[in-house]
Order: sequence, then structure tokens, then C-alpha cells
Amino acid sequence: MSQQVRVRFAPSPTGPLHIGGVRTALFNYLFAKKNNGTFFLRIEDTDQNRFVPGAEAYIMEALEWLGIAPDETIGKNEKFGPYRQSERKDLYQKYADDLINSGNAYYAFDTPDALDAARKLEEEQGKTFIYNHTNREKLDTSLVISTEETAKRIAAGEHYVIRFKTPVNETLHLHDIIRGDVKFDTNLLDDKVLFKSDGMPTYHLANIVDDHLMETSHVIRGEEWLPSMPLHVLLYRAFDWEAPKFAHLPLIMKPVGNGKLSKRDGDKMGFPVFPLDWKTDEGTSSGYREKGFFPEAVVNFLALLGWNDGTEQELFSLEELVNNFDLNRVNKSGAKFDPEKNKWFNHQYLIKQEDAKLAKAFSPILVEKGFNVEESKLTKIVSLIKERAHFVSEFWEMSDFFFVAPASYDEKASKNWKAETPALMQELISVVEEITDFTSANIETIVKDWMTKNEIGMGKIMQPFRISLVGALKGPHLFDIVEVIGKEETISRINKAISRL
Ligand code: GLU
Repeated sequence: MSQQVRVRFAPSPTGPLHIGGVRTALFNYLFAKKNNGTFFLRIEDTDQNRFVPGAEAYIMEALEWLGIAPDETIGKNEKFGPYRQSERKDLYQKYADDLINSGNAYYAFDTPDALDAARKLEEEQGKTFIYNHTNREKLDTSLVISTEETAKRIAAGEHYVIRFKTPVNETLHLHDIIRGDVKFDTNLLDDKVLFKSDGMPTYHLANIVDDHLMETSHVIRGEEWLPSMPLHVLLYRAFDWEAPKFAHLPLIMKPVGNGKLSKRDGDKMGFPVFPLDWKTDEGTSSGYREKGFFPEAVVNFLALLGWNDGTEQELFSLEELVNNFDLNRVNKSGAKFDPEKNKWFNHQYLIKQEDAKLAKAFSPILVEKGFNVEESKLTKIVSLIKERAHFVSEFWEMSDFFFVAPASYDEKASKNWKAETPALMQELISVVEEITDFTSANIETIVKDWMTKNEIGMGKIMQPFRISLVGALKGPHLFDIVEVIGKEETISRINKAISRL
């Protein structure tokens, strides 16, 4: 095998891509880029019963959106194509035959009923049935009938599967980059099905053949595939191929309690477990994109699920991740998913965005509400509110008072409206009316000078002033609001509050 790093993401298109799958894709991407290698996407669709239309396009779109698109895949640099296993179908039979011929695999003709009976028999004796060396010679396999008989039955169209003949009495000492040394006792493995008489390989055979033909140097995948590692290594050995190196990524765990993160956790706690919305007849499963997450934020929080660079740094651009990524720094233990922390990441990326860009994203929301706001004004508003926001979708709620006068006044806040307030507010109007340089700092200086000169306490003015403009005790710096809404609107809102409170 060449020293060139070639890694793959090999999802089965059985539905929307779970965020755990996205993390696997990301770690492969980072590892490839870090090592000047190639990241490719292979679609493992040999199981036609589980095939879901649209899933493949969804996977590709998700990787594009995140900025971690593969270097090679369907329709892109097809150097080792096809990249869809269903289109490679004709290629696998030969490899299954090779294993038969080398004595590493055998035909099994057992019907479902016969297998059920065999299972029951074992269970009656208090044992669990495993299709392996303990049983394979008692079952209906080519190991116990002649070659001629086997050929005759296959020619007659009998259904069969080809199973791997797992070697006995061996301890496999394997190495995983993340887990270190791992041992497997071959006697405990079952003889997995590799190929079926309908001409389709199973995942195991197709995966190994393709990783070999596509010159995969490292297999980086989720921990749920660790139990398949001994079979895969034995298959490489049976073919006399050099095995790639393996790295099994830790599970992503629920935010609370134990166990793997599931879609149900997301539904219950109100966060997506998919990168993009996934629509079916039963409804929509929400995605990070449509929830208003920035792809950079999603990439950042996923990178930290099971990996860190050894420092306290949490914010990483994709480029920094590529530079710092190291499989040796991936943890063995499960990584807890923290939806609140994910929002924090989005906030961090939001405040880093240019105000004008955020204004552009906010604009359609305003248009929908019936406001056509001038670009420079909107940019200014965004600059005043973004420090407190996690998402652009929160902007309206945080800034509606810039566009409309309050329709009502927050009850608690109105308690600050005292008997003497109307008269003070009238005086404030006269002060505001006289201001010519209507900029935040200047308005503030003039209003505060007036208060000092007349010995009026801050609280007596500032809170009622804010209530008049905003309707509640919230929002950015008061004089910034005054500047943006302008003199006329400020006065009109104070007058309205005087008459209504
Ligand atoms: N098709 C498998 C999956 O859906 C690939 C596992 C592997 O990476 O070997 O995850």
C-alpha cells in the first residue's frame, strides 16, 4: 500500500445523516487534510431493503453546507469509481469465489426454518446459538457435502449464502489508533454472511473489497463498528491484502443520563440531531442549518466531541482544526452532547460576523413583517443587538422597538412610572427638542447635564424614558436607541407614554 493518506466516509443511505455520522465525516476530512491526503465519499447501498430515496443527496448537501465536501465521490474526480456500491455489484462475486477457493468461506444452504430449529435445539440445552465453528459442520453447508453436490444444488437454483470460515483457537492482537491494543478471541466470532445468492454482497465483503480497491489507508469510523474489526482484519488476511489502519471514534452520548444520543433526546429537549431539515410524509425532523446555526459553529462543536488539542482553546476555524487535528488526541470514552454549549458556539460565530452580513440575513425577516429598512440603519441596529443573540432568528424579538412604537408597556416596568413622571417627561421632551447634533453620545451628554443641573436622579428619568421607547426595561444602550429612531419618533413615543401610563 502506498504511504498516501486516503480516507473515506462510507454511509449507508438509510435516512438523514445523524450528527454522529457528520462527526465521523469531519474527522476523516480533518485527518485527510492534515496529512495532505484524500477524503472520499462512498455510498454503501448494498442493502436495498433499507435504501431511502433522497438520503444520498441529503448526505452530499450536508457535507457541502459544512464546507467538508469530499475530494472524490459520485460525479467528482471518479478515480476509483463508481463510488456507489450498487453500481459495483458485478465486481464482488469474484472475491466471494476467491474466498471459497482458498478455503476461507463456504456455502450455506440452511432455510430459515432449519435455522430456527437449530436455534431452538441449542436454547433447549441452555446455550445460545452461534453460527460458527461449533455448529457449521452440523448444518447444511458445503463443508459437509461434496464439491459436486454443492455445484449441483447451486446450479439447481437453491438459495444459499456464502459465509466466512472464521479460524479457530486464535487470539487476534489488533491495534486501534484511538483504543490502543485490542484483543479478540476468534472462537467467539460468528461466521458472518458475505454474499447472497441474489448476487449481492453484504456490508462486510463490499466494505473490505472497496477499501482495498480504493486504496484506503485508514478506516476512521464510529465505535459501533469495533466488533466488526476482527472479521475485517481476517478478511484482509484471507485475501492476502494489507489491512488499513483502524481508528474507532467514541460514541456521542445523551446530554443527560447514560446512553447514545438519539433523535428522541433532540425531540424532548428541542435541539436537532441532523445537519439539515429532513422532510417525510410524517413531518419534518429539524436540522442545524434551518435552526439558524452557522456551518462553522457546527463544525467547531462537532470537532470537540471526543477531541481536543490539549489546550483550553475552544474556538477553532476549519483551517485551525486541520492544522491541529491529531487522531492520537481523540478520547476513548463517550463524548457528552451539550445543546446549550452548541448555542454558545453559534453565539461566538454570530458576534464575529460582519454587521452588514448579519443585516442581510435579518432583512428578509423584516420584509416579511412589512418593514423595508435602509441598509445602513439596519447594520447599525444589528451592531447594537448582536452581542446578546445566539441566532439571527432572535433579532426581531430583540429589536422590534427600533421599528414600531410599543403597543403596550410591561407591567413590572410601568411601576417605575410615578406621579411626578409625566411632568419630568414633558421637560425631557423640551430638552430633546433642542438637540441638533442627534448622535448617541451628544444626546447622552445633554440629557445628563440637564439632570445634573436640575438635581434630578438618574432613575427618575432613565427608566421611564426607556419604558416610553421600548415598552419594557430591556434593549441596548438607551441613547443608541434614541439616535436610531430619531428625534421625532422619540418625542412621539414619550408623548404616547404620558397619555397612556
Ligand atoms: N456503511 C457503514 C455505515 O453505515 C460504514 C461503516 C464503516 O465505515 O466501515 O456506517
